[in-house]
Amino acid sequence: MPTRVEDYYAPETFERIKRFADTKETPFLVVDTATVKQQLDELIEGFPFAKIYYAVKANPAPEILSLLRDAGASFDIASIYELDRVLSLGVSGDRISYGNTIKKSKDIRYFYEKGVRLYATDSEADLRIIAKAAPGSKVYVRILTEGTDTADWPLSRKFGCQPDMAMDLMIMARDLGLEPYGVSFHVGSQQRDIGAWDAVIAKVKVIFERLREESDIQLKMINMGGGFPANYVTRTNELQTYAEEITRFLEEDFGGELPEIILEPGRSLIANAGVLVSEVVLISRKSRTALNRWVFTDVGKFSGLIETMDESIKFPIYTEKNGELEEVVIAGPTCDSADIMYENYMYGLPLNLAIGDRLYWFTTGAYTSSYSAIEFNGFPPLKTYFI
Ligand SMILES: *Cc1c(COP(=O)(O)O)cnc(C)c1O
Repeated sequence: MPTRVEDYYAPETFERIKRFADTKETPFLVVDTATVKQQLDELIEGFPFAKIYYAVKANPAPEILSLLRDAGASFDIASIYELDRVLSLGVSGDRISYGNTIKKSKDIRYFYEKGVRLYATDSEADLRIIAKAAPGSKVYVRILTEGTDTADWPLSRKFGCQPDMAMDLMIMARDLGLEPYGVSFHVGSQQRDIGAWDAVIAKVKVIFERLREESDIQLKMINMGGGFPANYVTRTNELQTYAEEITRFLEEDFGGELPEIILEPGRSLIANAGVLVSEVVLISRKSRTALNRWVFTDVGKFSGLIETMDESIKFPIYTEKNGELEEVVIAGPTCDSADIMYENYMYGLPLNLAIGDRLYWFTTGAYTSSYSAIEFNGFPPLKTYFI
């Protein structure tokens, strides 16, 4: 089936994007800021009790950050560079969480000096460093999650610790003069199984209870990370369904009196707002009898489409050409054979697609420009326009 605009955008939204795109040279990303605002409003409506900490890595453009700043959001930050960017836009330290569990002592000190008092951790060594470099701060412990095979871009294994260790760390935090504040998790980005939240919230409840009963520690916060969906080829439930179900899981485990709830959306806020516009550079066959054509575009893995690695994220690809479809391999313009986006999952593109035609990659607002290489083969980083 060809990608249809109406499955992904309101007609007037795509028209607005297209009208702007027609005036620019490819390749580039267009981000429709009204869509970002709409996604934010939808998330707030679904989770009226939650505080939103935007995961800056998804798209750190000042245009996005200032929109979210003005809407009252807070920020989940992973480096001193992201911190400087957000501070330079007038956001104060009390709206920032240092969410990376891997950090240098001098960077923690820098965050502390800038007024940040909320830190993630998942190890004893990191906790000891936080206690020295950011004394008295609030710390929350990240736990490992399972079921990440239903997430299209898992964030498992590398981050988090087992619940038993999480409890040890919260006790140690208290003993080191920090404030043991809560528990965080990330169920995996683009998590298609809402049940993943159910399993991990149940674990969090046990941690809360045991710390209260055995160690007299009352945790106050659950940071539920990201994982909320964007609209790719592999469909998901609506965000509203996520919100209803996850709220039910929380209420089942924590009753009417929920702890403070933090969400750290990245993808779900920004992805739908972006369209990456590219041009077909070359179409070829590898032999006289080859069944599939190769379509080479002026964007690739190194210019923003790294999430096609292992074909994890299947971006909807739209062309204005129509007619009979043929399955094609789609690859980027660089001299690296890793720069093939899709060859197992075969996209159907029209047989009359020609060199010079434009391909529109939908749902590319998140994790594209921020991943784009600086100068591989001399190609510049992905240009982004905000409308
Ligand atoms: C990347 C990241 C997020 C954002 O996740 P999405 O699935 O893009 O919403 C949230 N929290 C942390 C700690 C992250 O590393």
